[in-house]
Amino acid sequence: MKAMRLSRAQPVEQSPLELVDLPAPITGSGEVRLRVEACGICRTDLHIIEGDLPLPKLPLVPGHQVVGIVDRVGEGVTRFRIGDRLGISWLFSTCGQCDFCQQDQENLCDAARFTGYHMDGGYAEFVVAPHSFVHPLPAGFTPTQAAPLLCAGVIGFRALRQSKIRPGERLGLYGFGGSAHIAIQVAIHWGCEVFVFTRSEEHRALARQLGAHWTGRAEDNPPGRLDSAVIFAPVGRMVLEALRVLAKGGTIAIAGITMTSIPELDYSLIYQERTVRSVANSTRQDVLDLLKLASEIPIRTEVQTFPLEQANHALHLLKESRFRGASVLTIP
Ligand SMILES: [Zn+2]
Ligand SMILES: [Zn+2]
Repeated sequence: MKAMRLSRAQPVEQSPLELVDLPAPITGSGEVRLRVEACGICRTDLHIIEGDLPLPKLPLVPGHQVVGIVDRVGEGVTRFRIGDRLGISWLFSTCGQCDFCQQDQENLCDAARFTGYHMDGGYAEFVVAPHSFVHPLPAGFTPTQAAPLLCAGVIGFRALRQSKIRPGERLGLYGFGGSAHIAIQVAIHWGCEVFVFTRSEEHRALARQLGAHWTGRAEDNPPGRLDSAVIFAPVGRMVLEALRVLAKGGTIAIAGITMTSIPELDYSLIYQERTVRSVANSTRQDVLDLLKLASEIPIRTEVQTFPLEQANHALHLLKESRFRGASVLTIP
């Protein structure tokens, strides 16, 4: 099978992914194999490929927003059949035994393994995953439209929940890429007023088109204070900018898997019971809930597609925030 594979972490400008021909993965007991149709590109892929995260497996096929058609089912799989269209997300498997797994926090499992990180992912023609961690997709979405829901959408959704935003409240979003352009649709569906902070005029235009109440740069002052905020940009300074305009008792959720250092902050910025928290991975329930909501709202993903072979180019554009919405690799 064709795959785009990483042998050594490098800046994307150096085209670190190499087009290779690999044996298609074999389906183990309890696993399904998908013939990949589309694989979303996530900012985490960029962090993996450039070595911002420790790499547990090399060489590695990245990609964890995978949509494909079941072409093999392993022993013991009764949930799915050949021909079903399914999605694979970041959470590849968990231990199922630890306190986190037992208490609806499988996203924090110590033994969790992640797609396109510990295991080869969807920048390839075929991928395997345990059937219990694979998701049926809502009707009405093409493979390319559905792919960004699987991580960008789910992480944004979990971050909204962790930000404690309630219907009718005022929400700030910092950074406006693949994840935020989905999160804003959920927040507006919940009746929130959304304030979007991004340096890109093109991203501000998309935010206004999707119903943002106000747009500006992180250092600008929105009219009035925010009840909650979600930070998508992996820039520690944003935490201070968001705290500066956060109401008493408000919460900031940080959606990224990594971030530059948060500068020293004056205690007065978090005094008055302001909370700053991170968001780590997602649970299968998060994926189920977001996919259900996606068809109810319905969420419209703004997608730019690239052939698999152009993964390096697409990642480079992502690094420079040079497109609207989300980017997706397609495999004919
Ligand atoms: Zn566990
Ligand atoms: Zn992701």
